[in-house]
This record gives sequence, structure tokens and C-alpha cells, in this order.
Amino acid sequence: MTDPTKGASMLQGKTAVVTGSTSGIGLAIARALAADGANVVINGFGDKAEIERLRAAIEAEYGVKTLYSPADMTKPSEIARMIATAEATFGGVDVLVNNAGIQHVAPVEAFPAEMWDAIIAVNLSAAFHAIRAALPGMKRRKWGRIINTASAHGLVASAHKAAYVAAKHGLVGLTKVVAIETANDGITCNAICPGWVLTPLVEQQIAARAAAAGQTVEAAQTALLAEKQPMLAFTRPESIGALAVFLCTEAAATITGAAYPIDGGWTAQ
Ligand code: NAD
Repeated sequence: MTDPTKGASMLQGKTAVVTGSTSGIGLAIARALAADGANVVINGFGDKAEIERLRAAIEAEYGVKTLYSPADMTKPSEIARMIATAEATFGGVDVLVNNAGIQHVAPVEAFPAEMWDAIIAVNLSAAFHAIRAALPGMKRRKWGRIINTASAHGLVASAHKAAYVAAKHGLVGLTKVVAIETANDGITCNAICPGWVLTPLVEQQIAARAAAAGQTVEAAQTALLAEKQPMLAFTRPESIGALAVFLCTEAAATITGAAYPIDGGWTAQ
């Protein structure tokens, strides 16, 4: 909810498109932007009835308008249509959060070529296509916030994540280019770089580790954290939502081209 002691929210009446927001971090970002007054376009895969329940709950809870776009982030034409539909429905896209992401873990020489292509498409190219489609409207209105969900893996590498690490490093690079190109247009572009967040994407990795090591899920979870993250605790999706909202405030108007770790000390090492 908007805090009345802090004045009018920057996002009241504005519109946010959040890709990959039917689950995990994207859903938390969509909810946080809606709580601050933004109309939101939800996107991602999942059970139709469950997505409709999530969409309706955001409208009811925060009194904003919502729309669900089923656009597949591997398909540039569907991405362009998602942005065009959002603009036609709400009058513009003010906040674009490129968050959809997938993962596959394997050594480089065993990495399936089709998984490489899919990860680059969803985790990197989709952001390019969405930014390309949303920028003209942001420039016309002289205001925009672009937030890319990168990762600690946008800043440092881990074994067996060739496509993911390449895509996230690429996304941090794209963030910097867009920041420079839009520096005098009232637009900022930043990347958020989470460490471990307990979402379905990470639950799959924990389950695979547990199976491979013959461990319990709890033991695999502890081992996963201990390997990378000095703070042996997951970041909550809501904390990432709060950071996204901060990047949309007037206080953050000159923060651009930054890649913000929110990673329990992972990349401080
Ligand atoms: P998640 O699996 O819970 O959510 C991923 C979302 O992306 C879902 O809504 C899914 O439907 C959507 N998606 C996947 N493929 C898509 C496609 N082709 N088109 C449209 N939507 C698609 O995962 P999450 O952990 O919430 O991940 C969200 C983002 O955060 C990803 O970019 C991920 O790389 C990043 N991230 C996650 C962690 C973590 O620890 N969970 C850490 C750093 C970065």
C-alpha cells in the first residue's frame, strides 16, 4: 500500500509490464508495483485458472487494472504484440520489467544446443525485443523505468551454467547500453542481480542436487546456500519487489546502468 506520509506514489496511474510474472520473483515484483498503484500486465506460463486467480487477486487487493498476456518470450512477434496490447489497453508502458527466465545445468560439452538457444532467447533476447518495442512510447512520454532481472550470474560465473551465465552477463551489458542511450530521456535502465531466491526455478536445482547426492531436500538446500552465499539464507521475492519499486521512485531518478546485487554477499567474495 502507498504510504500517505510519503506523498503520492510515482506509479499511481502508470502501467507496468512484468514478463515471467505468473510465478516467483516476477509475481512478487508485479504485486509490489501494483501495491504502489501501477496497472500491471502479467505474463508467463502456467495453469489458466491459477493465472486468472492471481490476476484477479492483484486487481482486488490493490484496486489497479490488470491484463494477462500469454506471450511466449522466445517469440519476438508475440513480445511486440504484448507491448502493443499493453499500450492500446492502458495508454502506454511506463515500467518494463524483463524477468522471465529459465535454467539448465550441464557441462559445456554436454549442454544441449537447443537448451542454449532457449535460454539465450528467454533470458536475453526477449529483453532486447521488449525494450525495443517499449522505448518509443517511453521517449514520447519522457518517462520510463526498465528493470532487468539479471542474477549474481550476471556478475560472476558458476560451473555447468554456460547459457545462463552468458545470457545474464549479456543482460547486464544490454542494461548499460540502454542506460547510456536513454540518459537524457527521463528513462532509467537497471539490472537487479539476485543470489539464491527460493522459487520453482531453484527448487528444481535443489531437488536435482538432493537426488544426485542421495541427500534430503533440506540438506541439499543448506549445501546449495553454503557453496555460494555467505548469508546462509534465501532472499525473499518480496525484497526484490521492494527494490524494483525503489528503482521507480524519484529518489532513484539518476540511478541508471547499474547492476544491483541482492545476494547475501555472494558477489562480495
Ligand atoms: P520461476 O520459475 O518461478 O519463474 C519464471 C517465470 O518465467 C514464470 O512465470 C514462467 O512462466 C516464465 N517463463 C518461462 N519461460 C517463459 C517464456 N518462454 N515466455 C514467457 N514466460 C516464461 O523463476 P524465478 O526464480 O522467479 O525467476 C525469475 C527471474 O529471476 C529469472 O530471470 C531468473 O533467472 C532470475 N533469478 C532467479 C534467482 C533465484 O534464485 N530464483 C536468482 C537470480 C536470478
